[in-house]
Amino acid sequence: MQIFIATKNHNKLKELERILTPMGFEVLSENNLSEPLPEVEETGTTYEENALLKAYSGFKVTGLITVADDSGLSVDILDGAPGLYSARYSGEGATYSSNNEKLLAALKDVPREKRTATFVSAIACVFPDGREFTVRGECKGYVAEKCSGNGGFGYDPLFVCEAGCYAELTPEEKDRVSHRGNALRAFKEELKKYI
Ligand code: IMP
Repeated sequence: MQIFIATKNHNKLKELERILTPMGFEVLSENNLSEPLPEVEETGTTYEENALLKAYSGFKVTGLITVADDSGLSVDILDGAPGLYSARYSGEGATYSSNNEKLLAALKDVPREKRTATFVSAIACVFPDGREFTVRGECKGYVAEKCSGNGGFGYDPLFVCEAGCYAELTPEEKDRVSHRGNALRAFKEELKKYI
């Protein structure tokens, strides 16, 4: 079955692809289109709403079953920040490293036991007949005091879960425990009810 992944983030695409392909899907993405996907304004107030906005935008272009992810890191002592704003935490022109620097500064002098955080991924799926669903996956951990590892993307060098720092895990290890891996496993179960 063909499935379109509506994302402009090639790291997310890689993660979604390497989990969905072994599930038997023929994965299509922006790379298969003749024109770039439109930018989506993330105006939702939840991860699920934003994931649906992205999925519908991709569906409008392709007409295929379309999935999209909206994700972020919620730090307890920062009242859930950067949360929905994870991609643009350090403002206009934010990069992964400027976001990580801002997060480290926000947590300066905060002791390890108070640096707890949850990574969240909401995955939305929309169908040509108008049906839709969302699922959510989470991974709990804490924000380290400095970056480590070379793998992954985004906040991976700072996020430590039970299996270790996301950026130090192999892709397979990350998929087994990550918020996106958990969301995709829930997605697989939910999808069975729709096809
Ligand atoms: P989105 O495109 O609005 O969903 O932005 C998600 C942002 O959250 C990304 O730009 C990253 O900063 C962060 N993020 C999401 N998933 C991950 C992950 O698996 N590792 C590290 N950072 C992530």
